[in-house]
Amino acid sequence: MDLKELLKTLCEAFGPPGFEDDVRAIIREQITPLVDSIEEDAIGNMTGWIKGKSEDVVMLDAHTDEVGFMISHIDDKGFLRFAPLGGWDARQFPSARVTIRGKDGYLHGTIGFTPPHITKPEERTKAIPPEKLAIDIGVKSKTEAEDMGIRPGTPGILDGNIVELANNRLLGKAFDDRAGCAALIYILEQIKGQKLPFTLAFNFATSEELGLRGAKVSAFRIAPKIALVLETTTTGDFPGVPADQSPCEMGKGVAITVADRTMVTSPRMVRFLQEVATERNIPHQLKQPLFGGTNAGEIHLSRSGVLTGVLANPSRYIHGPSSILDFGDFEAKIQLALAALEEIPKRLM
Ligand SMILES: [Zn+2]
Repeated sequence: MDLKELLKTLCEAFGPPGFEDDVRAIIREQITPLVDSIEEDAIGNMTGWIKGKSEDVVMLDAHTDEVGFMISHIDDKGFLRFAPLGGWDARQFPSARVTIRGKDGYLHGTIGFTPPHITKPEERTKAIPPEKLAIDIGVKSKTEAEDMGIRPGTPGILDGNIVELANNRLLGKAFDDRAGCAALIYILEQIKGQKLPFTLAFNFATSEELGLRGAKVSAFRIAPKIALVLETTTTGDFPGVPADQSPCEMGKGVAITVADRTMVTSPRMVRFLQEVATERNIPHQLKQPLFGGTNAGEIHLSRSGVLTGVLANPSRYIHGPSSILDFGDFEAKIQLALAALEEIPKRLM
């Protein structure tokens, strides 16, 4: 399997929260030959299981969804109003190209706004609230849009095809968290055929961007003893951002979460991950508290508590259609996760 191609394919797939069917189909095809069984639940979580020598479960988690939107209203001329799904910055929307799911396949359009010629100078320097924007898919009437299957609840995303940049960096959408999904698939391939001391659950969680919803129920079902969440996280390494406001930096390796808005990582887990990374010469950094949140927020609180760690590759301009990922950081995340799986039985169990 070519890791970069796998990452690109997953990132380009359509998967706003609750509508990750395409993403799951790609993952299912990839993991079917690599796992003992696959489980899907009622809300859209998918878990691949590998039985080990004991019943103790180590859970690896990544989320399948990306930030997106839903059509909320269609006007008589066929303009589509929309409601953002997930943590958007409204400055991303005007003139962005979009893909929405119609009844016969995907439809394309743009997020329209009033042109500069008919707006006042002071309006042109402010972000436009989403409710003042409308998606234009070229139709001329409400009936025409409805005939294409568009109705309140139709899901959509901002387009962001993946392109390669200098220094082994990629530009595009949905690294958060298809980079985690790609990493899980790659890890599965690396450990294929090994009989591990513990049972492994590879969880592909739904709807993280709406508040860790999928992780809540999957952690209960899986009942892990230890969990590692593989994520993509925000950076502050941009001109004008002071160092104390920058959670982590691209190109400095995998980021280990100490604490964020959803979890204070157990010091035992932080020390374990730091030690393993140092011993194996894996580039790593500690992510500054308390930015962001991940599925670990739900997983570590499941049942009677789960020892949980978060490994993330940094990404600039995250939650936008033009975010950037450093492939070296992404590989460091995978290396650390693989090394941690080797060391968990000796040091954490
Ligand atoms: Zn994420």
